[in-house]
Amino acid sequence: MGIVPDIRQLLNASQLEYFKHTPDVTYICDSDLRLLACNPAWTRFALANGGREIPDRWGPGSSLTDAMSGWPRAYYRKQYIQALATGEVFRQEYECSSPGEERHFLQVAYPLERGRGLLITNSLVREESPKSAGDAGGQYVDHRGLIVQCSHCGRVAWPEVEGSWGWAPTLAGRTDSRISHSFCPWCLEHYHPA
Ligand SMILES: [Zn+2]
Repeated sequence: MGIVPDIRQLLNASQLEYFKHTPDVTYICDSDLRLLACNPAWTRFALANGGREIPDRWGPGSSLTDAMSGWPRAYYRKQYIQALATGEVFRQEYECSSPGEERHFLQVAYPLERGRGLLITNSLVREESPKSAGDAGGQYVDHRGLIVQCSHCGRVAWPEVEGSWGWAPTLAGRTDSRISHSFCPWCLEHYHPA
């Protein structure tokens, strides 16, 4: 599968560990927007959605924006370059539906130290239509009766799959006594490095 870079130079030990184990599709590109590494969740997603040729064709070594066409290509390119230049996190919600399923994701792109690249993670928008106003986010309630939300990116820990963070737009900006504010692993490392 193309280049196998030493991503240990770009990620610290806890980021590296999380990169391997998170069930959320995550990848790293360099400052030329060339894919350096994709996590195992990316490979599983690619095989399930596009077949065997996807990991070979769009894997490490390929350009991040080559897989896009039309306006998204120019748009994402501009946003990624800006994130690299400013060090500011870029967020974008997008649709990536399969024939049988309408799916939306929230993408969060974290600039790596000294503009060396981007770490890009994609969280599924998981949101049942609430039966009542008080029911919003019910599927995110963990065994303690709490919803764990990241104070920075607003994503919410998905209790059913360890290490997975979802995006629930209706929970954003809500004050809910069940919400416990914390940091997702990527925001913790980006905003509060040890
Ligand atoms: Zn976060």
